Amino acid sequence: MKIEAINTYVVDAGWRPWQFTEIITDSGITGYGEMSDGRNPWGIVGTVEDFKPLLIGKDPLNIQSIYWDLQRMAIQSRGGIALKAIAGIELALWDIKGKYHKVPVYDLFGGKLRDKQKIYWSHCGTSRARSYEQLGVDPLNSRQDIINLGKEVADKGYTSLKTNIIVRPDSPLTNQPESTYVFFGGFGGGGGTTDQGLEYTSENQTFINYELIDVIEDHISALQEGSNGKVTIGLDLNFNFKPQAVKKICKALEKYNMMWVEIDMYEPDGLREITDSTEIPITSGENLLGITDYRPYFDKRSMDVAMIDIPWQGFINAKEVAALAASHQINVAPHNYYSHLSTMISLNLCANIPNVRIMEIDIDDVEWKDEMIGGPLKIINGVVDIPEGPGWGVNIDTKVFEDHAWQQGKGPGYTNK
Ligand SMILES: [Mg+2]
Repeated sequence: MKIEAINTYVVDAGWRPWQFTEIITDSGITGYGEMSDGRNPWGIVGTVEDFKPLLIGKDPLNIQSIYWDLQRMAIQSRGGIALKAIAGIELALWDIKGKYHKVPVYDLFGGKLRDKQKIYWSHCGTSRARSYEQLGVDPLNSRQDIINLGKEVADKGYTSLKTNIIVRPDSPLTNQPESTYVFFGGFGGGGGTTDQGLEYTSENQTFINYELIDVIEDHISALQEGSNGKVTIGLDLNFNFKPQAVKKICKALEKYNMMWVEIDMYEPDGLREITDSTEIPITSGENLLGITDYRPYFDKRSMDVAMIDIPWQGFINAKEVAALAASHQINVAPHNYYSHLSTMISLNLCANIPNVRIMEIDIDDVEWKDEMIGGPLKIINGVVDIPEGPGWGVNIDTKVFEDHAWQQGKGPGYTNK
């Protein structure tokens, strides 16, 4: 079998681009991978183009050989877009290998440890706050709207959710906003920005005297009230704060039913300081790539739960990171804010490792998310079946990708407001 062609797709998933690889072989088998860079979608597919000479004509079943050739070619660009592009290629190769042997990918690694996987409703409220029109749902304008959302999550059977900092017109603030927005100061705040503190200021927003803590507490308590304590709550602080601020936020949240507080930070000692300061589990690591990145964080016991992103680092790296985490008595949670191809890929990893804590999934999403894999996922009581089909376990409909192509020049949605 030989690789004949490689195609890439940049798809418009509403408020962010999704990127996919398609590797076509001369045997009639085609494999699919998901890769991701929300900010640089054209950079990542362009990098796949650069790798093509190392791929065309090769036997796609020799995954390790191809993988290390790609790693060597990109050795001076360690991580980043290069590794993300390699991940997209590697994942498509595993799909081909599974389909060739007519087994799920987890069977290529010794079979599954579980038939079902617990998931949590991610970006709960976040997606609605920013994109309610695209989602066809009501806006979140008041505390009562957040209480209702918490009730909806519990009523639909989910036992865990994850949210972000949602600032509403009725949030307890001196400078109340005119409309609801999600606070993502760590991703860009505009002119005059003071980064990563609680007294955050920019040209658009000012939080006086730790008021941001009141906003967060009000949001979390509303979700807890609505879900009647039946749902554990994750709060993802992303890159929005430095350790001093995260410690204060955790202190304020200790009385709530927290699944975890998540904070992204490229500094293992700073993260350890946070973990030491609170009883709330600290989750981190989604942006780390491969065991070399994770090792200092694990050695210093900087996090209680390690997020692992497979479209960013590939299946081989994710497996290795999970094993390294297990050797440090740390559980992992796949980072999956992507399409349902990534959901299938992540479920194959969950099936294959002993130390999975829980898996992320976005419930509020573009209406064609199910269509691209041929139908809706069966989610009952916050649990989803491990796929049984060959490769990643789904057939991908690329017509859906073509119908929703990301337009060049469209700005990613990850801005401050
Ligand atoms: Mg996160």
